[in-house]
Amino acid sequence: METEGASSVTVRKNTQTPKAIIHEKFGANACYTLEEVHESAENGCPGLAIVQKGPCLYCCTLKLPEITVVSGKFKKKKDAEQAAAELALEKLRFNPAAKRSSLPETWDGLVSQVKYLFSDEFLSSLHPLGGHLRAALQREGHRAGFVPACALAVFDATLNNLCKSIDPKVELDPFLIISYVIRAAARLSGYIASSEEELWIRRENPYPPEIIELSCIQPIPNKSGCPEILMVEAIIIPCSLEKTVERVILNLTSSGYYLDAIAKQLGLLEASDLMISRPIGKASSETRLHFAAPKQSLLDISSDAHSKEVCSFEGSSNARASYLSGQNIYGDAILATIGYTWRSKDLFYEDVSLKSYYRMLIGKTPSGLYKLSRGKILAAELPLAFTTNAKWKGLLPREILCTFCRQHRLSQPIFSTLSLEESSDSSQSHKKLRVTDLGVKDTEHANGCVVATGANETVKSGGSFSCELKVHSKFQDLILECSPKISFRMQNDSVQNASLKVLLWLDIYFTDPNVSFETLKASADDLDIRFEPNFFVEAFKLCQFFRNVGHSEIEEGKLVNSNSVNVPKSLSGQGLHSLIIEGPDSGVCPSNGSLSCVSYSASLVTEEHMKEQLESSDDFEFEIASGAVNPHLESVLIQMSVGQSACFFMDLPPQDLIFAAADDSARMFSLLSSKTCCLEFTIRLLRVIEPLEDRMEHAFFSPPLSKQRVEYAVQSIRESCSATLVDFGCGSGSLLDSLLNYPTSLEKIAGVDLSQKSLTSAAKILNTKLSSTSDVDISSTPLKSAILYDGSVTDSDSRLCGFDIGTCLEVIEHMEEDQAHLFGNVALSYFCPKILIVSTPNYEYNVILQKSTLSTPEDDPDERSESQPCKFRNHDHKFEWTRAQFNCWATELATRHNYDVEFSGVGGYGDEPGFASQIAVFRQRTIPQEDHPEEIPDSEHPYQVIWEWTSNDRS
Ligand code: SAH
Ligand code: MG
Repeated sequence: METEGASSVTVRKNTQTPKAIIHEKFGANACYTLEEVHESAENGCPGLAIVQKGPCLYCCTLKLPEITVVSGKFKKKKDAEQAAAELALEKLRFNPAAKRSSLPETWDGLVSQVKYLFSDEFLSSLHPLGGHLRAALQREGHRAGFVPACALAVFDATLNNLCKSIDPKVELDPFLIISYVIRAAARLSGYIASSEEELWIRRENPYPPEIIELSCIQPIPNKSGCPEILMVEAIIIPCSLEKTVERVILNLTSSGYYLDAIAKQLGLLEASDLMISRPIGKASSETRLHFAAPKQSLLDISSDAHSKEVCSFEGSSNARASYLSGQNIYGDAILATIGYTWRSKDLFYEDVSLKSYYRMLIGKTPSGLYKLSRGKILAAELPLAFTTNAKWKGLLPREILCTFCRQHRLSQPIFSTLSLEESSDSSQSHKKLRVTDLGVKDTEHANGCVVATGANETVKSGGSFSCELKVHSKFQDLILECSPKISFRMQNDSVQNASLKVLLWLDIYFTDPNVSFETLKASADDLDIRFEPNFFVEAFKLCQFFRNVGHSEIEEGKLVNSNSVNVPKSLSGQGLHSLIIEGPDSGVCPSNGSLSCVSYSASLVTEEHMKEQLESSDDFEFEIASGAVNPHLESVLIQMSVGQSACFFMDLPPQDLIFAAADDSARMFSLLSSKTCCLEFTIRLLRVIEPLEDRMEHAFFSPPLSKQRVEYAVQSIRESCSATLVDFGCGSGSLLDSLLNYPTSLEKIAGVDLSQKSLTSAAKILNTKLSSTSDVDISSTPLKSAILYDGSVTDSDSRLCGFDIGTCLEVIEHMEEDQAHLFGNVALSYFCPKILIVSTPNYEYNVILQKSTLSTPEDDPDERSESQPCKFRNHDHKFEWTRAQFNCWATELATRHNYDVEFSGVGGYGDEPGFASQIAVFRQRTIPQEDHPEEIPDSEHPYQVIWEWTSNDRS
């Protein structure tokens, strides 16, 4: 692995090493610093992680006058240095200075492309720019045929790419492209005329009439002979932050040039005075910002002079518009969905409402993206934890992160999932056993994200997955990386979990305008994130403007009244008022981890009884205590029971959220201007789905608790070297099934249960496994028979007597307590296995499962402690015992039937309040051989055979 990493560095056509080249160029100005690292290594190449368990690795930082790069991790210092040098060389290739040699050809390409765009054949093409050329020919007066340079710069991708390869800075500054395009046009004098002052380009000699005709650009007057007027709704984003973002109407005539109309709206003379941004939102969208071109001379495009020029604009930088587009936008800007497309020669246009503007705005933040994906701007929140796909509602964390990176013009995130090796440490072996699980080989390639899979984890699925996530800038600078310490059974879970951590961290930056560097750093540490402050600031430079203004635009809402009923002290301090809960208490209440479903509506209300609904839903489902819902809403909800309704008021949320939810923004404005305006929520709790035991076991434990129990039992069975096994209350056969994944000494296995349904699925699973010829493991085991019985474990059936080992996992709590005692007696006095393993929930652990305050750190702790006793984990449980109760049951049984008993468990660390699942292991004390046989009655067969397999069935 190490050699692979090294070879990517050293195998070069060039005989010179990267380090030698750097030395040639920079001499003493190149400074290498080596650092020791102790984690698993990967090569420097993003997209492929090579895992390696090495004692000590090196990573090298190379500082050059203009850039700094950090290598991947290597075993040898010299490889790390070469890798850093290689990276630096790669990066320098982005530098225009390093590109000088290829410039002449690129310039020639640019010139011939401009020429082509003004050729006869191009005029009638469906190319979006063709529409502009045709519209330009129709312009009235002396401007007929004048094409705004910005249209060429923006709508022709080839020109765009050529300019980018001349100067990558055009990415950030659209004005720069115009400079290059006009310079290229200037080389075509005689064929093309251009103006550096007025930013237009036109063809010198007119197009032939037949070409004009072919392009069908005659104005089509309507019946009255006047050109038709089109009214298109657009948004004006004033440069001054004092002015509000408002709706404007663009008046277009069917024969006029739409860019002229936009220019007029901005107080400019004509289309050539405009600049156009790249599309906003989806890549295919025609939604763009239009703003005034700077009135600077373009003569000097030497990059130094230009960067000064850009700086001189900063004064008129439009923070809101720049944030929205990720480009520098100056002066007032108009956001409009209008333009020519590849689909038709006609002008395409759509209204842009304030609501859609605000949706684009909030769609640039992680929580905003999540809210949009749920269609609930005010009620939904980005959850604080990811457990499983099934429990997550809305867009998945990874998808949100990919969208976020696209929106902010970053490279797509890189996920490297690592599969942890099996550990042979026997002291904890039940936790680390590798269980072959065929369900985890999901290679991720959806959404265009790169998911790198470690080279050593290919087929050997199972074990645990951890995921390392990296976010790079467009220029491959590492902005942040997240390496969560927890690992997951499913690869997908590890990827989603790491994504969510990054989203939560980014969201801190985007939602709190006053967040300090220290806070960011501290939360990054909490979330296992490491970030590069410089590259981070660089990547979100334009967001900084917005963050300073975005949330201070509105005045804080005032209280409606203070005669609040029922509002706990802890809540009224948080901006929640006048809570009224109506309806009889049904006693069915949401608890942490349960899924609640509500109907709700959120409206703006004022003391003057004005009311406007913002958002509503008939069926909104979310998990309690996962942070998936507005915290005020949740704090009310946990006081309610199913069937009850509540009405309450809260302070106004940020204005961008209100407008993103509101349909009629004009009315919102007038409401918001009232000092007494606040947000009214009415909710009705429709239903509560209790946290199922299984959901909880998956949510709180990794691997899930059920898996840990099975692994514990499997381990004990293997250690016991038993030949015969019976699983009491085998359910759907999860233990028997897992056993077949291991080489064991078992010759005979049996399961008994009284649920037909469970037995049927157990039979299916075992049958498939045992009859499959391809399964090498099974044919190599001594297994001779497997059988499933329908019956109660409290009944005595002689066929189960004298087995070597018995297991009874999470079964006794499903019986009444007296039956549990009966089972214990029957098992140890009649069936008499040499070893019996019994597991059952530890009631004391429920506190952790049910009162876990995942998202409610502000909750009043006093209020929590005086609340009701814990619920059972499952509706079907007849009891759940404390450690003392279980101890008492097991010790008494053991003593009575001449067994020893030991206590253990899985889930948690075993300290207070004990393991999540408590386990008793009974071992038969050696007894005189002759006592035994007489106790076994000859043939008592109350059980019914449901399914049976013998080794003769083996095909
Ligand atoms: N041991 C399995 C199933 C646990 S669920 C596992 O760990 O996955 C509890 C099971 O006990 C159910 O399948 C239920 O049908 C079974 N059960 C409950 N009372 C029983 C009894 N008296 N006899 C046999 N099975 C019983
Ligand atoms: Mg149970």
